[in-house]
Amino acid sequence: MNVAPRMARLGTESAFEVLARARALERQGHEIIHLEIGEPDFDTPAHIKDAAKRALDAGATHYGPSAGLPELREAIARHISGTRAIPVSPDEVVVTPGAKPIMFFTIMALAGHGDEVIYPNPGFPIYESVINFVGAVPVPIPLREENGFGFDLGVFERSVSPRTKLIVINSPENPTGGVLEHAQLERIAAIAAERRIPVLTDEIYRDFLYEGAFESITAMPGLRDLTILLDGFSKSFAMTGWRLGYGVMPRDLAEHVTRLIVNSNSCTASFVQLAGIAALEGDQTPVTRMVAEFKRRRDVFVDGLNQLPGVKCVKPRGAFYAFPNITGTGRSSSEVADRLMNEAGVAALSGAAFGAHGEGYLRFSYANSEANLAKALTRMRPVFESLTR
Ligand code: PLP
Repeated sequence: MNVAPRMARLGTESAFEVLARARALERQGHEIIHLEIGEPDFDTPAHIKDAAKRALDAGATHYGPSAGLPELREAIARHISGTRAIPVSPDEVVVTPGAKPIMFFTIMALAGHGDEVIYPNPGFPIYESVINFVGAVPVPIPLREENGFGFDLGVFERSVSPRTKLIVINSPENPTGGVLEHAQLERIAAIAAERRIPVLTDEIYRDFLYEGAFESITAMPGLRDLTILLDGFSKSFAMTGWRLGYGVMPRDLAEHVTRLIVNSNSCTASFVQLAGIAALEGDQTPVTRMVAEFKRRRDVFVDGLNQLPGVKCVKPRGAFYAFPNITGTGRSSSEVADRLMNEAGVAALSGAAFGAHGEGYLRFSYANSEANLAKALTRMRPVFESLTR
């Protein structure tokens, strides 16, 4: 079939491709440790599952409003007001199946042919994919290990132009685990406010912050009516497969994004949204417990990585990814990732899958059991020894 030329501009997310390759090896009888996919290994807390079951039994099985159920939009508005210290009204909230559509719809609504969009590199691959897809020009900002994988402000300031239609930031960041410092957020906010450039702030890893307090750019001067805050339930509540996320944005943009929903998925599953209310308003101890566990695993895994020859890993401050520098092996990221999969049965991602500035790194998700993480380290050692011999 002849597909439209725009399909050539649409990228992908390599985590799903590597997962498929790992599953194929498993079908051939190999045992693979999955450190490629970014999802908590925890089960969704019981009270959230119970709420979904009750909602199903109560008949929440029909179409709902495209922007989301009013009661969930209200709960999200309260949650964001409380956690980001900004006033939020429910009509600024748009609910989607997972948070990813907020990314897609926002870029689609704000950037057109020839417009420029600034985004982090290495970064979540979908930003660049969608920027290209809509015909806009991707303007990557390198995140460098030497400055804690924060925004290179010099490059950022030189990259802003009259054609910049959107700035994308992500903190804590996938894949580096880096966190944007107050001074960096302040500078980005000042430039965005002065030039009236909207900022898409991807805060999906807000709860996974192991040092310091979370700060959202949405609360900075002049940014309240310029920000699109992306968050969701996938990571914080171990609900990746439920598909529930949201955006908080100015009302006029919310209306455009809602029309994109009408034209695509119509609405988000009603019983899933009712479970979302239970997640936001119910017991938060499962979240705290999971984050504490991830912090412990981070420490053990990063220490282990640093003992492998050719590997150097800074301790990530947030999210649940380790992003070790493997330039000591003298090999490309994709070669090392392939060898780890084939020779050690460890699935990891090449840093280059997150953009050109990710070359020389690997991404491991440490959202896996401590036993599996220890086993992965043991199995990887001979591969790194042979790579550095
Ligand atoms: N933003 C970032 C940075 C992510 O890493 C992910 C998922 O991996 C998402 C957004 C999307 O999350 P969801 O599963 O809610 O669509």
